[in-house]
Amino acid sequence: MKTIFGPISSRRFGSSLGVDLSPFLKQCNFDCLYCELAPSASVSKQENIVEVKTIIDELKTHLNEHIDVITLTANGEPTLYPYIDNLIDEIDKIKGLTETLILTNSATLSDEKVFNSLLKLDQVKLSLDAISKDVFNKIDRPHVNIDISNLVSKVIDFSQIFKGKLFIEILFVYGLNDNKEEIKKLNDVLTKIKCDRIDLGTIDRPPAYPVSGISYKELHDISLMFDSALPIHIASRIHAEPNNSYYSDEEIMNTLDKRPLTMDDINLLFDEDSKKRLISLIDDGKIEKKAVANLEFLVPHDNMKRKKQKT
Ligand code: SF4
Repeated sequence: MKTIFGPISSRRFGSSLGVDLSPFLKQCNFDCLYCELAPSASVSKQENIVEVKTIIDELKTHLNEHIDVITLTANGEPTLYPYIDNLIDEIDKIKGLTETLILTNSATLSDEKVFNSLLKLDQVKLSLDAISKDVFNKIDRPHVNIDISNLVSKVIDFSQIFKGKLFIEILFVYGLNDNKEEIKKLNDVLTKIKCDRIDLGTIDRPPAYPVSGISYKELHDISLMFDSALPIHIASRIHAEPNNSYYSDEEIMNTLDKRPLTMDDINLLFDEDSKKRLISLIDDGKIEKKAVANLEFLVPHDNMKRKKQKT
């Protein structure tokens, strides 16, 4: 049986060893339009279940000191795995300094047992694609008993008490959740969530249904519509075409003040001359590098000072 895959080197999470909690078939409580797996009717529980011992035995043979995170994932939704709590405990016994991470669609946070199990992890990534019921139902096609307002309130509750690193991921689908009204609703909820990073993404792989992603430029424009204090990061680069735009020094400062960017973003947005002047601004101490949840962002010195004064 093959429940372990990788390690995969990920910019966002480091060297990651994957654990597939549904290795034989897709078992998910969503049937997202953008899913990279084949379409499949949503389910509320797993029927095809792997033993914890099988997973742990395989994990032991793959773990080494070069792995940063053990990532719990699945062909489907990993929190549907019925022994998730026991599995986390058993991984904790053997993981050493390696951290544990789960990638979940957030829906089972409404189950108190799952909610409490996820609190034991070092890192959690919660997906949140929409706030409006109709948009959520269209994109994520959830199982009948899943209610978006309950899901949102559980994500907020979880963020307030989780002690590890928390990431939120929003995946934008062209024509569905990329409009101003939905972004405003997402923004209002995000300001209530305590998290380390918010990743904005779009469709990077062939989707289950005929839907399209949006461009890097559109993602960047959307990122500017969120509250500037939110730790937003543009995670998708597949549709990125270099903009090579000219930015004056003032525009560089204003852009980074509104939305801190990584060097990868800069390489896509700025032309060569603007990049050189950005480096000078860093050398002059007007722009600083700030590490946020595994990534390095560029932030104006004055902005850092303002934020320090607030706390
Ligand atoms: S939650 Fe993940 S696995 Fe489930 S349908 Fe959506 S994208 Fe696919």
